[in-house]
This record gives sequence, structure tokens and C-alpha cells, in this order.
Amino acid sequence: MPDPGLWLPDGTACIVAGGRGFRVRKDLLSQLSLPFRVYIFERRDRSGITVEFQGVPCYWVPDSADDMATLLRAIYDGRKYLMKQAPHIRFSVLSALMRLGREYALQDIVDDAADYLEDYFTPDFQTFLQRSNGTHTEKFRLSERDKAAGAAFEAVNLARLTRKHTLLPLALYHACQHAPHEILLGITRTSGAVVSLSRDDMVRCISARRGLLRASSRLAHVVHRAECAVGCAEPDMCAVYMARLRAAFEELRVDLWTVDALAGLETQLGALADLPCWLELCEECREEMVRRHRGTLRETWGKLLDILGLSAEELEIEWETQGKAVDVVSQ
Ligand SMILES: [Zn+2]
Repeated sequence: MPDPGLWLPDGTACIVAGGRGFRVRKDLLSQLSLPFRVYIFERRDRSGITVEFQGVPCYWVPDSADDMATLLRAIYDGRKYLMKQAPHIRFSVLSALMRLGREYALQDIVDDAADYLEDYFTPDFQTFLQRSNGTHTEKFRLSERDKAAGAAFEAVNLARLTRKHTLLPLALYHACQHAPHEILLGITRTSGAVVSLSRDDMVRCISARRGLLRASSRLAHVVHRAECAVGCAEPDMCAVYMARLRAAFEELRVDLWTVDALAGLETQLGALADLPCWLELCEECREEMVRRHRGTLRETWGKLLDILGLSAEELEIEWETQGKAVDVVSQ
């Protein structure tokens, strides 16, 4: 069945992927991609197979129709293919471009797709914080549907496959947020396909969950050491609310431990964030606690590679540890 969107009048070859045909320029693909030329075109031309469709020779590829359509569109449209979809690019599009880009030795396509993915699985703490508080201009947003379908597992595998190791720490962190049975058994998608981590990364995520829980327990320091801010509007009232917040925290503290150790203060306070002892604090005092909490997030970020059992040297990546103590808010 011809794909109407990719059936070019000047096409000289019909690429057949998963039962769909794409009429494209053979010379263009041959020039861009050595694997296309050698493994798809030359091998078939030597084999003596002479199937034609609408006057052009057919070439079979092992990829799915959707993946091939995505790759060919990216080849024909160039960088604007992703630019015009951003930030609501489907994860499957970036995945297809990274996998097939690698398969057909189209490094520019791999790099471009990885840049979008890196906007989400960022190696930069400030970008991470700005994304968390909604001040980051997104290039790519991972949909809830893609998250539930195990995009984090796939992102880890893509990072390994294409050696885009800067994606790994946060992709693994997101993978850790899945329930242990999902980490161990993988996630079955509606298509029936199962997406799962490699054995090594499974073990890594299961072990890292403990480290992340422990890191989140540092929330206790923030709550216990909370003091009225310098510019507090109502020191007497705020002191009372803070004492109540500490007491409520003591009741719940074990329940507040979370694998999502990099979440913002209100998220980590969970049910406490709905109580008057938090809501009635003056804005200055609340902001002061958020700021202190951000300090613990920075520490957790600095330890993330250790928690995940990764080595910056081995991965050849840079990771911000405790060195740069810059507060994004004060900038
Ligand atoms: Zn106050």
C-alpha cells in the first residue's frame, strides 16, 4: 500500500516497510546513508529480485512502517520536522529517529532527536529546577501516556544504544519511579510489546530506589530546622504554625519518604501541604523553606550518579556535584 504522504513523483525506489510503500529518491538515500546503499539497495540489486510497483523497483527493509515513515520525513524535511512539532513531539518519534538514525548511520538525525530528549532528561540541575517550577521553555514534553507506557525504560535503552550518556542519569531516575514489579518485568504496551530495561539497569534501578528513599528523608532536616524568615510578616503566628508543621511531620515522616527524591517541597510534603500549618505560614517563611529544600535537592542531584551506581568517567559525561553553589532564585 503506497503511503500518500511519501510517494514522491520523482522517486526512483519504493521502500517497503511493514507492508507500506514509500516512493523516494534512491540517489539521495544512497548518498546520505552507506547502510542504505550497501544493505538495502545494492544487496537487492545483486539478488536478481525484480519486483516493481508503479514503475519503480521495490526494496524491503526490516523496520516498521511507522518508524520508516518517521525517518524518511526527517530526512526530507530536515530539522524543521521536529521543530514544528515541538514541544508536543511523540516519544515514539524521537525513539524511531534515534534507533533508525543509528541503524542507517545518519548521525545528524540521532543528534537532533537526542537534543530534544535531553531537554527532558536533562543533565543540568538548573534546567531541571526550572522545568520543575514551570519557568523552563520546553523543547520537548513527555506526555503522561508515554510515561505510563515506560518511556523512561526506553530512554535508558536509547541512551545506551546511541551512547548518548548524558541522558542516562535522569532517564534512570525516572525509571526508578516505576513500581519494582514494572522495573523487573517490564511494561506491556497496548500493542502487546513489552518494554524493559537490560538486566544490569534493572538491578541498578532496584538498588537505587533505596538510595533515593534515603535521600528524600533529608526533608526532615528542612522541616526540623525551619525558622521564621528574616522578612517574616507574622513571627508569632508563623512560629506556632511551624511547631504544628513539625508535629504533623513527625506523625507522618516515614510515609513521606519517596523515591521521587528530586521533587519540589510541596510535592514531598504530600498531605501536609494541604494543612493550615503549611498554608497559613507567611509567604516569606514558606519561600525560605522552599529555598532550604532546594539546597537538599542540589545535594541529592550531586549524589545522583553514586546513588545510581554510575561513573562520570566511564560514561564520559560531566555531572554537577557540590562545586557550584549557585541558587537559581537569587540570580
Ligand atoms: Zn512568617
